Amino acid sequence: MTETMEKPISAAEVNPKFKYEISNMHGGEKLMRCFQCGTCTSDCPIARFSDTYRPRQIIRMTQLGLKDRVLKSDTLWLCASCFTCTDRCPQDVEVASVIRVLRNLAAEQGCIPQVFKEECASILESGYAYRIPELRLKKRETLGLPPLPKGNPGSIRKTLREVHLLEHMEKKGV
Ligand code: SF4
Ligand code: SF4
Repeated sequence: MTETMEKPISAAEVNPKFKYEISNMHGGEKLMRCFQCGTCTSDCPIARFSDTYRPRQIIRMTQLGLKDRVLKSDTLWLCASCFTCTDRCPQDVEVASVIRVLRNLAAEQGCIPQVFKEECASILESGYAYRIPELRLKKRETLGLPPLPKGNPGSIRKTLREVHLLEHMEKKGV
């Protein structure tokens, strides 16, 4: 995926049905109420430390129908789901939920940043989101610390298979 938020907009990339698609999903219902006041961005803890992450911009691009651009953007995945934006929006737009809906759609299309794909692979393999280096495990031993509890990837796989998520991830090469 590439950073695509700042490119000039061409008419060909506008999908007029996109805003309705999102508005019809749970959490996206109030998308069209946004009047671009910018409160969500000014209160967002991630936007404070990022030059590119702007929830207001994500909402506007979604309203405009820039489906591919939004779904392929890595910045979509920076949201920490803290719900500050949702709590403070004067128009009651469920900003955090709109972002969740967009991420679900992006994941359905296989547009997931490499770092999250690697986390998923690690969870499925070891039960941990982060592969703890052998060196660190040995260091624990030398410090007399107890071994870390074993992950249970089998049970995670079973749960993911039951909700058909594993099948979907395999199909999309996640
Ligand atoms: S706070 Fe609400 S109305 Fe204001 S820009 Fe964000 S989503 Fe739009
Ligand atoms: S939920 Fe996401 S977009 Fe909203 S304030 Fe928190 S980090 Fe920012």
